[in-house]
Amino acid sequence: MPTPQPAPHRAGTRPVRVGRVQIGGGAPVSVQSMTITDTRDVEGTLVQIYQLAAEGCEIVRLAVPDREAAEALAAIKPRSPLPIVADIHFDYRLALLALESGVDKLRINPGNIGSRERTRIVARAAKDRGVPIRVGANIGSLSKAILRRFGGPTAEALVASALEDVAVLEDLDFHDIVISVKAEVPMAVDAYTMIAAQTRYPLHVGVTEAGTAWAGAIKSAAGIGAILARGIGDTIRVSLAADPVEEVRAGFEILKSFGLRTRGVQLVACPSCGRAEVDIIQIAQEVERRLARLNAPIKVAVMGCAVNGPGEARMADFGIACGRGMGLLFKRGKIIASLPEERLVDALMEQVESAASSMAAAQGAPAPEAAFMDTAAPQDAAVSTGRAAPTDAAVRDTAGTGDPAAATDTAARDTAGTGDPDAVTDTAAPGEATTPAGTAVSGAGAERASR
Ligand code: SF4
Repeated sequence: MPTPQPAPHRAGTRPVRVGRVQIGGGAPVSVQSMTITDTRDVEGTLVQIYQLAAEGCEIVRLAVPDREAAEALAAIKPRSPLPIVADIHFDYRLALLALESGVDKLRINPGNIGSRERTRIVARAAKDRGVPIRVGANIGSLSKAILRRFGGPTAEALVASALEDVAVLEDLDFHDIVISVKAEVPMAVDAYTMIAAQTRYPLHVGVTEAGTAWAGAIKSAAGIGAILARGIGDTIRVSLAADPVEEVRAGFEILKSFGLRTRGVQLVACPSCGRAEVDIIQIAQEVERRLARLNAPIKVAVMGCAVNGPGEARMADFGIACGRGMGLLFKRGKIIASLPEERLVDALMEQVESAASSMAAAQGAPAPEAAFMDTAAPQDAAVSTGRAAPTDAAVRDTAGTGDPAAATDTAARDTAGTGDPDAVTDTAAPGEATTPAGTAVSGAGAERASR
């Protein structure tokens, strides 16, 4: 008999609303990222926000280093398809300006905002506007007092620092709080585990010093994954020294691997070995590229041989097991065709696309092609709304797939992963928020606006 598992921490956290996204209270674990543009560059920042939204990002954080950046938020916020978090350090007046600009959440580090009184001023203003605050304790920014008390930067010190900040907000009867205690992987795991035992506020999970796209994604998968596996974590950000779109992709992959989110089609591919009689890596990459435009809870397997391939392909919704010059096509455990190698991928995609369309129709959502048509008409939308004409920034191939349909299709996805067609409209509706004008973007790895 399986051992009963305790309810995950995230099931019982206090729900906090960040724009239209709920953090905590058992809501789906949301994926955040942070723009790397100069926030003062309104158009460039909006282009990047649209790229992030197209990839499924649900909350975006913007650095607010000075007054000009804080004032730019007022121009960015009404045109942003995503809830905006203003990231403030050192100057509490910037937090007040950000609130006036209508941001959806503040991230402050009370340890560097100047004084408790200044934190109180910010908290009062946030409370008046119903805006939540994340108090972010970070291993690199612990106060001298805390470091003295704990003898250095430790998980206990991080937790104590965060809870002190929380106490300041609670004194003001402010409870729309999200907490983070970021550190390197082992300490972060300890700190999140400790703080989860002491608070019901939702937790924003991440690790510090993550690194480049490759190494950072692995560190984040290890750290964030270990924390999520303990039932802890209501929202995540993978921090990478890379295009922030990669952070969103990595975030969803981590969540998908725990079955916490189902965004996009799940592809499993065998690692290939000496038994493979086809170039399975190339086939898997092609399937991955073609699946990138679909968002349906479908599992697809691409296997390299007739030894283990058929068994694993059978466990997916659809799969192929390749052999010499031919292969088998599986649908929910049954072989439905034996095909020449050159037909396999097309036949697999026909099955997957048909299933995705049926699922979308059952949910009342537009079929992939219809979604593409909707989002491909930004000019009409601009004319009808009288707003600035969007460029093709949001309709380019942000997935880097080489397929222009991929971006628009992705932009029309249910970014909240709720299966709620309204969520599709929220992100995709061109009349809801104008895309930035006059800024050239081409693909996820494209040049970004000035930094
Ligand atoms: S499915 Fe076949 S080719 Fe792929 S790793 Fe397993 S044994 Fe090797």
